[in-house]
Amino acid sequence: MRFEDYIKNVPDFPIPGIQFKDITTLIADPAAFKAAVDELALFAREKQAELVVGPDARGFIVGSAVAYAAGLGFIPVRKPGKLPRETISYDYDLEYGKNTLCMHKDAVKPGQKVVIIDDLLATGGTMDATIKLIQGAGGIVVGLGFLIELVDLNGRGRFQNLPVRTLIRY
Ligand code: AMP
Repeated sequence: MRFEDYIKNVPDFPIPGIQFKDITTLIADPAAFKAAVDELALFAREKQAELVVGPDARGFIVGSAVAYAAGLGFIPVRKPGKLPRETISYDYDLEYGKNTLCMHKDAVKPGQKVVIIDDLLATGGTMDATIKLIQGAGGIVVGLGFLIELVDLNGRGRFQNLPVRTLIRY
């Protein structure tokens, strides 16, 4: 499966200079969506993950499908003000703009092994924040999985002690 054939590149979205990788065309195709999810679910099982965590918002789409396919539960990491119960939070920089991510304080149990799934690895800021949240709750991050990796931004270099699986590299 050539996953890259299912991704649309959108120049200058949402601001000039960004080459936005649109995954909606991949997840709209049943065979490509299934193959991508199955590959990341295999990665989660290989790493013996007990839980999948996915960041707002495209991490919900990919991460929850991966969790289902791997037979695991899914924990959403969300923007502030969205989760109804007590949360822990972390601030970070995006490729474009700034963000804060939150997770329910009791979502990850101490010692639980977690794989984090998102649509795209750029600078790694989102992953770094998500890892901090999971570790803050006492969880153990055992792997990071993505549909897409923007290699030039070297997000992978920030996580040299962690297995990182990506299906498409630009
Ligand atoms: P980063 O934190 O820099 O690794 O950025 C990753 C997050 O930002 C992911 O959740 C992506 O959804 C989004 N993102 C960053 N850059 C792009 C891009 N060029 N195209 C699509 N999404 C992007």
